[in-house]
Amino acid sequence: MDKEKERVILTGDRPTGRLHIGHFVGSLRNRVALQNEGKYKDMFVFIADAQALTDNMDNPEKVRQNVIEVALDYLSVGLDPDKVTMYIQSQIPELTELTFYYMDLVTVARLQRNPTVKTEMAMRGYRDSDGEEGDDNKKGMPVGFFTYPISQAADITAFMATTVPTGDDQKPMIEQTVEIVRRFNSIYGDTLVEPEILLPSNAASQRLPGTDGKAKMSKSLGNCIYLSETAEEVHKKVMSMYTDPLHLKVTDPGHLEGNTVFTYLDAFCTDDHIARYLPEYACLDEVKAHYTRGGLGDMKVKRLLENVLQETLEPIRNRRAGFEKDIPAVYEMLRQGSLKARETAADTLSRVKKAMKIDYFDDVDLIAEQARRYGSR
Ligand code: ATP
Ligand code: MG
Repeated sequence: MDKEKERVILTGDRPTGRLHIGHFVGSLRNRVALQNEGKYKDMFVFIADAQALTDNMDNPEKVRQNVIEVALDYLSVGLDPDKVTMYIQSQIPELTELTFYYMDLVTVARLQRNPTVKTEMAMRGYRDSDGEEGDDNKKGMPVGFFTYPISQAADITAFMATTVPTGDDQKPMIEQTVEIVRRFNSIYGDTLVEPEILLPSNAASQRLPGTDGKAKMSKSLGNCIYLSETAEEVHKKVMSMYTDPLHLKVTDPGHLEGNTVFTYLDAFCTDDHIARYLPEYACLDEVKAHYTRGGLGDMKVKRLLENVLQETLEPIRNRRAGFEKDIPAVYEMLRQGSLKARETAADTLSRVKKAMKIDYFDDVDLIAEQARRYGSR
């Protein structure tokens, strides 16, 4: 109990598009639950615009436009500025300074091995990080993109975060941060806090696939159902979703593996939903058993999913409409949050600089000692 009250919870999202249902089940839902439980010392949620620029340097307008979209999505899922500090990453210059110092604690080889960096490099069409191998038609990778796991370590440690609620794509990032923390503390003395990842409890939510059945729903892949989507768009997207290509006739046995409609049901559907929308079954497992046995059509399953998603998204959509009526207030909330976050980050930075012995002007003993050495006043 007490330990829970010592928790500092932190996560961020890149302003490269509106947030989607993958963000919701992977991270936002956990954040709102943690906020409402209230068992924490501090909670931070930030818009990672500086990180988004590492692979969108040529498109600053995209990042700028999406800051407000992400903020509206935060408010619409129920994050409350009275309980959570929401801020914009680039407005905290202390993070850049921390990143610079942490860069000395990580090798190039270690970054090259980072699985998330590898996947994302491929997704963005970047050439291998040694710049030589691979297809010459591919783009070169910006140094800032290559080193973003280090800046992520700064994002986390600047707030002494203990708990990071994210999807499982972020596992290697948290591991990288833990390594940096350990290395820093072993060289400079106990200063930084080791974070832990907080994953959603069910596997479907840890990495929700895209509507095209691809491994991950992602803004960059254009395979998303956005939280702010209209009811009509949700309907269209669900109806055109990938199911089981072998399930041609209703009577054919269906397969659950790789069947995105069932993966989404795993992430969203509760027994209450089943009672409301398909009362002839007691739970989702019964629906699955019928599908695999044969005799249950894809349309019926899709209609169940659509009902569940519409029920989940409708209140989010309505809350968003309310916040959209006062956009200046949303920017003001972010400004206040950024000011508050900056105080915490500045405090950590000064502790880091002291540990690294680069706090010359604050160290009266140092000045006195040098003065004595030189026999001056
Ligand atoms: P981009 O394509 O720009 O990287 P993204 O859709 O991957 O965007 P991020 O901003 O990188 O989104 O991710 C923000 C948070 O949402 C992270 O904590 C990540 O783990 C989580 N998340 C993103 N996509 C999914 C998903 N499909 N399933 C579960 N969690 C996800
Ligand atoms: Mg991502």
